[in-house]
Amino acid sequence: MILLLFGPPGCGKGTQAVFLAEKFHIPAISTGEMFRAECKAGTPLGKMACQILSSGKLVPDEITNGIVATRIAQPDCANGFLLDGYPRTVPQAMHFSTLLRQRNLPDPIVIHLDVPATDLIARLTSRRQCPQCKRIYNLLSQPPKAAGICDDDGAKLIEREDDRESVIVQRLHAYEELTGPILKWYGQSSVCRVNGAASPDQVKTAVIEAVNRQLAADPVR
Ligand SMILES: [Zn+2]
Repeated sequence: MILLLFGPPGCGKGTQAVFLAEKFHIPAISTGEMFRAECKAGTPLGKMACQILSSGKLVPDEITNGIVATRIAQPDCANGFLLDGYPRTVPQAMHFSTLLRQRNLPDPIVIHLDVPATDLIARLTSRRQCPQCKRIYNLLSQPPKAAGICDDDGAKLIEREDDRESVIVQRLHAYEELTGPILKWYGQSSVCRVNGAASPDQVKTAVIEAVNRQLAADPVR
């Protein structure tokens, strides 16, 4: 089973990736982790990716594709895997499709966690961070015990520069511009759109149902 998870910043994708990995006994692989592991292993691709990342640039498609191809050939991926953050471009999606066919692997199940922009903005602008221990709070879902103060060390919580509304709106636009064409390329009929605005448990149930529906429709996956 090959799952691809898409969703805008603040949609709770990381939490769902962990749930899905546990439920289906497959590894959840994020591109960030993959790059870091490859860097640490010191492979030629890893070294290139490291250099590019440390200069703040985007890793080119060929290097990313190569790292993904290596990662999904690992034994822990024998029963399937979940990718978070890949493919990031239409050419990467096309390449990935060819790779799966070459390896006789099934088509991916594509999950899109859909959350209205207003909800995302509300969630993200409610984040506060402790400047001392860096712990993150959310005034809506995980507030500190005393308003504005870190539970652990009593420091005054701050709003991160990244979580200001204008920055968030920009990030959401960037996400849509990047991901819209990829979802279009996969085609409306093969993308499972899940309402990500509900509680994490409700979203989890909806995602699992969507995956099972896809599996039932096409047991080869
Ligand atoms: Zn703190």
